[in-house]
Amino acid sequence: MKSLSLCWPNGKTGALTTSWDDGGMADRQLVSIMNFAGLKGTWNLNSGLLGMDQGSLGWERRIGPEEISRLYSGHEVAAHSVNHPSLVNMPDHVVFSEVIEDRRKLESLVGYPVKGMAMPFGTTDQRVRAILEKCGIVYARNVESRADFKHPVDFLNWSPTCHHKADLFTLWEQFKSSTQNEGKLFYLWGHSWEFDDDRNWDQFEKFSTLAGTDDDIWHATNYQLYEYISSWQRLITTVDLSAVSNPSSVKLWFRADGELISVGPGQILQIGS
Ligand SMILES: [Zn+2]
Repeated sequence: MKSLSLCWPNGKTGALTTSWDDGGMADRQLVSIMNFAGLKGTWNLNSGLLGMDQGSLGWERRIGPEEISRLYSGHEVAAHSVNHPSLVNMPDHVVFSEVIEDRRKLESLVGYPVKGMAMPFGTTDQRVRAILEKCGIVYARNVESRADFKHPVDFLNWSPTCHHKADLFTLWEQFKSSTQNEGKLFYLWGHSWEFDDDRNWDQFEKFSTLAGTDDDIWHATNYQLYEYISSWQRLITTVDLSAVSNPSSVKLWFRADGELISVGPGQILQIGS
């Protein structure tokens, strides 16, 4: 009997994704560090608060709508609700409009479908997730750091590995030495202004260089990971695992009894022939 195990693109064994909330002005600096190092981010924005300039705190000063498309180019823009309420405390119609109108406004700025989000304050429940699904949201991140490297069980309740205030370098070492079989995943989240508050931009630069120069890491946005993992879950195999069919639009990589194999979109492949 063969065994198939997922790899990330080009056979990489680890993936890093990052997620940053609220669209504060410090995103400019964070994007520039990440672009230099080759890291990818998903930027969760409140369309009703874009351009807000009401105070001195990081979250009170936000990137304006005219800058969104250019600043986050090469990354992913995702939803974070229009006004940042805790959605579990809102009636159905408010949850619906906070999400669908955030999508509508952000999509008008970036020109592509906005399919993911981060939950404001991290709060979520079954009722809210059912509404997200009706709004066309396919993944939503909470704030429960799991300190593990697993794939989400439920993409609409996606727990990250850690916040950037965690002991990042120790966790990264654990990640690198983990022998977890199915493509291990490191999911980092936070807010850019916290680096201003904590005066520790240098630590994140160091981390970005470490992760960015690692050839065995796939740098992906949240949506790219959703797309890859959900396509992998749809891979069809024969009973004896001697052939696979990839009905998705994504090239998939896996190991069959140790051998690295890829199967293109729409392709049927005999394994070991
Ligand atoms: Zn937020």
